[in-house]
Amino acid sequence: MTYLRTSSDLLKHKLIAEDKIEAIEKVAEQFQVSLSPEVIKAFEHEEVRQQYLPSENELKILPEELRDPIGDQTFTPVKGITHRYPDRVLLKPLHTCSVYCRFCFRREKVGQADEILRQGELKKALNYIKDHKEIWEVILTGGDPLSLSAKKLSAILDELEAIEHVKIIRIHTRIPLVAPEKVTDELLEVLDREKATYLILHCNSHKELSDDVKKAIKRLSKSGLPLLSQSVLLKNINDSTEKLEKLFRSLLEIRVKPYYLHHPDLAQGTSHFRVSLENGRQITADLRKTLSGLAQPLYVLDVPGGLGKVPAGKEFIQESGKEAWKIQTIHDTFVDYQDYL
Ligand SMILES: *Cc1c(COP(=O)(O)O)cnc(C)c1O
Ligand code: SF4
Repeated sequence: MTYLRTSSDLLKHKLIAEDKIEAIEKVAEQFQVSLSPEVIKAFEHEEVRQQYLPSENELKILPEELRDPIGDQTFTPVKGITHRYPDRVLLKPLHTCSVYCRFCFRREKVGQADEILRQGELKKALNYIKDHKEIWEVILTGGDPLSLSAKKLSAILDELEAIEHVKIIRIHTRIPLVAPEKVTDELLEVLDREKATYLILHCNSHKELSDDVKKAIKRLSKSGLPLLSQSVLLKNINDSTEKLEKLFRSLLEIRVKPYYLHHPDLAQGTSHFRVSLENGRQITADLRKTLSGLAQPLYVLDVPGGLGKVPAGKEFIQESGKEAWKIQTIHDTFVDYQDYL
């Protein structure tokens, strides 16, 4: 099987019904679609299927949903860089992914050809990092940086290693889970670095961890890379204590340390995935009772408008009314927040 990218591909493979084709075409006009052979293989599991298969629910866009839910644009000094926190930047060399998650918080950007950095733009982005000595950590994200060619990725990592004040390189990726065949010897070689290099894997359900995926992750871990995970709390996919417990245990068993559990963002057309903050807190509090500390991620919320991530617990977020919240940001300002379910 190959990658499926159009509504007619989906129809041909009987993944959508004939009477849905018009709606799905509309969805695909707005938000990219791509399913890899690996994820299609796991489609018998609802927890996987719903993450990737476009649905007409995405056409329901609420007025409160944002094109740029976490405010990246405001913190973009040069194309490809997001500099929100003093000591670290995001470097986004491309905006394509092997698969497109239906709840993606950058769904307005991913898959857009004009978002890919050209050679000159990449140089400018790297110069920005060189010129800002306070940047201690560079986070490669996008899009999926591991879908760059080995040559291109290698060149970027070489440049980052040559910048004295950059001490930490972090790569956010979904490739080992959605296209494990791309974890090749060549890739392992490219990732073998002198500077501390961390890989953060995006994984939302233990059903994503097929034997092939586990093998790919094991190879990464054996090559010496520290592996962490981030997950998004998603309705019907992992919004129960049992499901998350299974996910975090499964990750830790393959040497992936759960890092963040993200409260779902206010991305456009994603209300069918959203879980209330109250519910998220209940689930994470229950996890605290049964699960090893090593397997516990930090539950975080990215404050809309680019105000940064805060832990989703009571120390930063207080209830201010019925389903209404007051958030203390990292700048010690206060903003109102609602889930808009
Ligand atoms: C999430 C994010 C980071 C990384 O934050 P950590 O809390 O260090 O994982 C860095 N920059 C931006 C703009 C982010 O959105
Ligand atoms: S892999 Fe990440 S950037 Fe790509 S579609 Fe999924 S959530 Fe968005």
